[in-house]
Amino acid sequence: MPKVKISLQNPTGNFWIDNGLVVLYDLLGEGEFDVEYVLNKLIEKLVVETGNIGQYYDKDTGSFKEYKKRNWIFPTNLFIKSTPRAAKIKIDGKESFLSPPKYHLKLEFSKKKEICDICGNLNVTTKAAMWMFPFAVKQDRFANFYSGLKRATKLCPRCALAGLAGYLGWLWKAQGRDKLHIFIFYSDLKTMLKLRKMFKSLEYNENPKGGNFPLEFSGDYIHETTLGLLFKLFGELLSQESNLSEEAKTLLEEILGESLEEKPLTLFAFSGSPGKAFNMDSMVEFSEFKTLYRLYVRWIEQLNWIERKPHDVVVGVFRQFQKKEGNSLNSIWRDKIAWAVLELRDPSTFIEDFMFEAKARDDNSNPLRFGTLEIFELYWKEVIGMDEKLLNVLRGVGHNLGRTANEKNEMGLLYALRNAKNPDEFYRVLNDIQFRLGLTIPEDILQIQKGEKIKGSPWLRVKTLLSIYAMNSYLSKERKNETQEVES
Ligand SMILES: [Zn+2]
Repeated sequence: MPKVKISLQNPTGNFWIDNGLVVLYDLLGEGEFDVEYVLNKLIEKLVVETGNIGQYYDKDTGSFKEYKKRNWIFPTNLFIKSTPRAAKIKIDGKESFLSPPKYHLKLEFSKKKEICDICGNLNVTTKAAMWMFPFAVKQDRFANFYSGLKRATKLCPRCALAGLAGYLGWLWKAQGRDKLHIFIFYSDLKTMLKLRKMFKSLEYNENPKGGNFPLEFSGDYIHETTLGLLFKLFGELLSQESNLSEEAKTLLEEILGESLEEKPLTLFAFSGSPGKAFNMDSMVEFSEFKTLYRLYVRWIEQLNWIERKPHDVVVGVFRQFQKKEGNSLNSIWRDKIAWAVLELRDPSTFIEDFMFEAKARDDNSNPLRFGTLEIFELYWKEVIGMDEKLLNVLRGVGHNLGRTANEKNEMGLLYALRNAKNPDEFYRVLNDIQFRLGLTIPEDILQIQKGEKIKGSPWLRVKTLLSIYAMNSYLSKERKNETQEVES
C-alpha cells in the first residue's frame, strides 16, 4: 500500500477534495501515513452504532452472541453504499454471521503511475467512486471532476482519501425526511481549518439527528436555509453571550470584512431529497459575505432602540414568510425573499405575494411582524437605491388606502391594485380608488417618466410597495398595531 502526505500545503482547487484535506489534517496532523491506516481511521469515524442489536453465531462456544449493529452515519449513508462483510454459516436453514460484520471500503491502485485528475500529480491512481465524491452532478462547475471523458476519473491516494474525509467536513441540515441541505465553506486550507475549529466550538454535533449545526431557521428550500445559517454566524459575531473564541472571532471579522489574505470565502450549498440516494435539485454559490453582513449590522443599528434583542427581531421578520398548510409548512415565499437578499435583488414582489396569497386569505390574518417594514425600507433605500421621498409618499398613501378600504369593506380594490399588469392598468386602479374611496393620490405617483419609471423607480416596484403598505394597513385592524407597523 502506498503512503500519503498530509499537510496544509498544495490545495487541489477542488472544493470537496480541499475540504477533505482539511479534515485529514485536523484528524491526523502533519506527516506521512499508510493509506490503509488513514482509510481505517476515516471508516471508524464514519460508521456509528445504530442502537440496534444483531446476532452472530460463535463457532467456539456453539451459541449465538449479540453485537451492536452499525451503519454509515447519516447523511453519509446516502452516498456510501458499501455493506459490511463477514463470513456466514447456515444453521437450521437460516444464514448467520460468524462474527460481527465489519464495514470496509476497497481502495486499489494502479501499478503504473498516472496523472491524478484532481491535483495533477503523477502517482498510482484509483478509479473515482461515489464514496470519494458525493456531487456527481452535471453542472458545468463540476465537469472537471466527472469530466465527461469516456474513461473513469482517476485519483491519487491523497485525493481519494481526502474525498472520503470530506464527509466529515460538511455542515448539513435535514428537513424532516423530505429534504437534505449540505453546506461547504471553501477558501484556502488554513482558513478552512480555522472555520472548522470555529464550527466545532459552536454547538457542533458529531452524531446528530436533524443537522450538525444550529441554524436560525430552515425549510424545504435552499436559499432560506442558507440565510438561516448566515444569520446564525452574524448573530454570533455581534452577540455578547457568544461562545466564540478570540481566534474564531478574529476569523469571522476577517471573512465578513473581506480581509482574508489568500482566497475569498465561498459557501456552496446543495439541496436535494434523500431517498435511497441523494437526489440533488438545487445549488447555491454565495460569496457576498461582506455586503450582507454590513446590511445585517445596519438592521441591528436601526432596531437598537427597542427592548427586545434586535437580532431576534431580524430573524423573526424573515422567519414569518411561511404558512401552515395541512400538516406542513409552506415556506416558498421565504425562500424567494431569501434568494433576493442573497443576490442583493428586490424582494418586494415576493413580500407582496406572501401578503396576498398567504396572509390575506387566512382567517386570523394579521399584519406583518414588527420590524418588517423597517428592515425592508432600509433595504429598498440602501441596496435597491430607492428615493427616500418616494418611499415616504408610498408609505403614507398605502397606509390611508388600506385603512379606508378596510372601513368600506373594499378588499377587492387591493387585489385589483396588486394584479395591475402594466402602467395603464395601474392608473386605472388608482382612479378607481380615488373615486370609490374618496382618496386623493398625490401627483408624485401619477407622473410616469421615460422607461415606465415613477420618480426613478420602475412603475412595478411603486405598485408593489403601494399594495404591500395598503394590505398591511388593511390587516392592522387595531389602531395600536397600525402605528407600530407603519411608522419607522
Ligand atoms: Zn490527486
